[in-house]
Amino acid sequence: MGFFRSNIEAMDGYTPGEQPQHGKFIKLNTNENPYPPSREVTRAIQAVLEQGLGRYPDSMATAFRLRAADILQVSPDCILCGNGSDDLLTIITRALVGEGERLRLPYPSYVLYKTLANIQGAETEEIGFQSDWTLPPQFADASPGLKLAFLPNPNSPTGTLVSPTQVAAMAERMPCPLVADEAYVDFAEQSCLGLVARHDNVIVLRTMSKSYSLAGLRFGYLVAQPSLIAQFLKVKDSYNCDALSIAGATAAINDQTWLAETTVKIKATRTRLTRELAALGFDVIDSQANFVWAEHSRRSPRELYEELKASRVLVRYMKYARWREGLRISIGTDQQIDALLTLLKTMV
Ligand SMILES: *Cc1c(COP(=O)(O)O)cnc(C)c1O
Repeated sequence: MGFFRSNIEAMDGYTPGEQPQHGKFIKLNTNENPYPPSREVTRAIQAVLEQGLGRYPDSMATAFRLRAADILQVSPDCILCGNGSDDLLTIITRALVGEGERLRLPYPSYVLYKTLANIQGAETEEIGFQSDWTLPPQFADASPGLKLAFLPNPNSPTGTLVSPTQVAAMAERMPCPLVADEAYVDFAEQSCLGLVARHDNVIVLRTMSKSYSLAGLRFGYLVAQPSLIAQFLKVKDSYNCDALSIAGATAAINDQTWLAETTVKIKATRTRLTRELAALGFDVIDSQANFVWAEHSRRSPRELYEELKASRVLVRYMKYARWREGLRISIGTDQQIDALLTLLKTMV
């Protein structure tokens, strides 16, 4: 067509997981939380609706930052909120990575990062995990034009975790900011949050979409030193979080009892799913997230995906050209996982 910047015309857009609009599916494909969110969320949103939506929202989402700062034991000045953590990933990439520069990622990992680099006209450097799911030392090496590194931790699609000790050692050597994308951290044993105070290049990214069951609300936040946040503020939309999402997210993070109860249930179901898939002949990677990566020695994952879909169970089929293909299965309720296992027993 020729109207657009050449990198936009050349790139593939990001394809989100299927969100069927018709029919009843058991949805285990986009790592949503199967349980309803804290009841306080609807109450808080209702209260905002009663006041009306005529005024612009607080551009800094102060109510959320104050609550979150207290819970996370950080200063509110270290928190920046976004319209989902994808919005913050966009802000970070736009602020740090220019045309022809480089963004480093582990491989395999979250596919959106590459799209963000492509939009900037930047290159990606993908560094493969080692067999024990740690990263090789070159993940932290300087290289010409390197401006930013993303590390989903726990990683998607593998569910594996790089220890905060290793992340700290890498951050120490890296010539650029390192984003620990902790979308799944509430299902994990360790977090990198404590590194922010000691490393001015560490950014911890969190979302309310997965562990708080608010993927439809669109709210995420990052924790970093105020000097970084001051630069990100220049790039973000003034009103990137709306009044309803600020109220809902604040109520959600305030209900830590709900979070603790729900994550305990999901982790118990994860343990059971991992065990039962193994009994059916699947290779399953031990997960610290709300999904598992599974491959079967005899059955093609694409066919299993298709057969499950025909029976109204959606899982994510993924193929990484330089790694493997397999199924990424989100942790549903026990009932949903039972339905999945019953079907799989007839297929493998
Ligand atoms: C789901 C996910 C996100 C996006 O979360 P939103 O807050 O819904 O935009 C970011 N990073 C990773 C690794 C994810 O899996």
